[in-house]
Amino acid sequence: MSGLSIKLKTPHTGDYEQPTGLFINNEWVKGVDGKTFEVINPSDESVICSVHEATEKDVDLAVSAARKAFNGAWRKETPENRGRLLVKLADLFEKNIDILAAVESLDNGKAINMAKGDVGACAGCLRYYGGWADKIEGKVIDTAHDTFNYTKKEPIGVCGQIIPWNFPLLMWAWKIGPAIAAGNTVVLKTAEQTPLSALVACNLIKEAGFPPGVINVLSGFGKVAGAAISSHMDIDKVAFTGSTVVGRQIMKAAAGSNLKKVTLELGGKSPNIVFDDADIDNAISWVNFGIYFNHGQCCCAGSRVYVQEGIYDKFIEKFKARAAKNAVGDPFHNETFQGPQVSQLQFDRIMSYIEEGKKAGAKIETGGKRIGDKGFFIEPTIFSNVTEDMKIVQEEIFGPVCSISKFKTKEEAIAIGNNTTYGLAAAVHTSNLNTAIEVSNALRAGTVWVNTYNTLHWQLPFGGYKESGIGRELGEAALDNYTQVKTVSIRLGDALF
Ligand code: NAD
Repeated sequence: MSGLSIKLKTPHTGDYEQPTGLFINNEWVKGVDGKTFEVINPSDESVICSVHEATEKDVDLAVSAARKAFNGAWRKETPENRGRLLVKLADLFEKNIDILAAVESLDNGKAINMAKGDVGACAGCLRYYGGWADKIEGKVIDTAHDTFNYTKKEPIGVCGQIIPWNFPLLMWAWKIGPAIAAGNTVVLKTAEQTPLSALVACNLIKEAGFPPGVINVLSGFGKVAGAAISSHMDIDKVAFTGSTVVGRQIMKAAAGSNLKKVTLELGGKSPNIVFDDADIDNAISWVNFGIYFNHGQCCCAGSRVYVQEGIYDKFIEKFKARAAKNAVGDPFHNETFQGPQVSQLQFDRIMSYIEEGKKAGAKIETGGKRIGDKGFFIEPTIFSNVTEDMKIVQEEIFGPVCSISKFKTKEEAIAIGNNTTYGLAAAVHTSNLNTAIEVSNALRAGTVWVNTYNTLHWQLPFGGYKESGIGRELGEAALDNYTQVKTVSIRLGDALF
C-alpha cells in the first residue's frame, strides 16, 4: 500500500494504518490525475492527512469495475451468498467498533460514544439487509386460463451513491446494505469533509469476501466526482443524501444524461410539538436530544419547537437549563455529548444564522456564541420571540440552534407544523392517544415520532414528503428503490390467429 496509506493515531486506539487511496476493484489506487486533498480535524483545525481525490476518469474506472462485476459473476451469485457477505460485513463492523468509531470522531468530530452508536447501527443495518437478500420475491398474477404471468424483482444495475458528512459511516451502511442485498453493484462517493472512516471500512469489504468491483468507494468533491456520477451514462441509479440545492442538481443531471433512477434524502425543518398534557420532563429530554444530537447536524433535527401555552413558561425555563448542561467539548472524552461542527464552512453558516436571528428581533434564551478559539464548537442555542416568517424558522441551519414558540390549539399546532417546504420528520408529545394519532395523521412528514425523537431504526422506512426527498431508505421500502419489476407473461394456449 505504499503511498496509499499513512500511519495515524487516535486518542482512543493509538496507532493505526489509515488507507488514503481510492477503493476500486478491491484494490487501493491513486487518482488518475494524481490529485490529493487535505482532511481537517474539526476539534483543533489541524490537518489530519491527505487523501487521493477522484476525478471524472476515476469515476469512469470505478463504473467499469462495477459494470463488469454486475454483468459477471455477481449477477449469478445466489441471494443466500449475498446475504452471507452482508452479515459477515456486519460482524466485522462489530469486531472493529473501536477503530471505526475513533476514526469517525477524529474526522467528523462526533462524540466517541455517539460514534460507537453509529457503528452499532451500521452493523444492525447491514445484518438486516443481509437477512433480506433471499426474501426478495415476485408474484404470480392470473389473467387468463391459458396464460401464466409472473413478476421478478431484479436489481437496477450499477448504482451511484453520494453521501454527506454528518453520518459518514451510517450513510455508507444505509446506502450499501439495500443495494447489495438486491444484487446491484455500487460506486459510492463520500463527502470531501469526512472520507476517512469509510476508507477504513473498505478494508472490511475485502476481508468479508466481496468480489472485486461489487463495492467501489471514492473520495472526492461534489462538483467533480459527484457531478460525474450523477451525469454518468453507464450508472443506472443515483442515490443521494445532502442538501436540497444539490438534490435538484442531481435530478437535472440524471434527466440530462441517461434518465437514471433517482432517490433523494434531503433537508428538513422538522417541528417538535409539545402539548400541555405531555410529561414535561420526558418531553424536554427528547426535545433536547431532537435538536442537539449530532450537534444539530441531522436532516431530521427537531429545529422548530412549538409548546402549548399552558406549559410554555415552565417548559422554556427547564429546557434552557437542560440545554446549557449538555457537555460540549473534546469528542474523545467519554462524557461529551456535543463535539465541534464538522467544518469552518458549516461553523460560519451557523454563526451567520445566529446573527441573522438576532437582527430579525429573536431573543437568545441560551447559547449563541462560539466556545473557545480553536475548533468549531458552538453553544447549544435556543431562540424565542420568533415569527414564522423569520429565516431561522424557515431555513435549515444544520447546527445546535432551535426556535421555540407558543401555540393555543391542536389545529394551530398542525398548521404551523406543516408551515414548511420540507417534510422529513415531526414529533408530538402528549399523553392523549387521540391527540397523538390525530396530529400524526395530519402532519405531512415521512416520520412522526410520538413522545420520542430521532429514534431511527434500520427496520423502519425513512424519507421525505414534499421537498425533503424522493423514495425511502431503510426497512423493506428501501428495497423497492434498489429493484425494478420485470413481468414475464407466458402464453400456454394456441396462437391467437
Ligand atoms: P452538499 O449537499 O453540498 O453535500 C452532500 C454531498 O453531495 C457531498 O458528498 C458532496 O460532495 C456532494 N455534492 C455536492 N455538490 C454536488 C454536485 N453538484 N453533484 C453531485 N454531488 C454533489 O451539502 P454541504 O454543502 O456539505 O452542506 C450544506 C447543507 O446541506 C447543510 O448546511 C445542510 O443544511 C444540508 N445537509 C443535509 C444533509 C442531510 O443529511 N440531508 C447532510 C449534509 C448537509
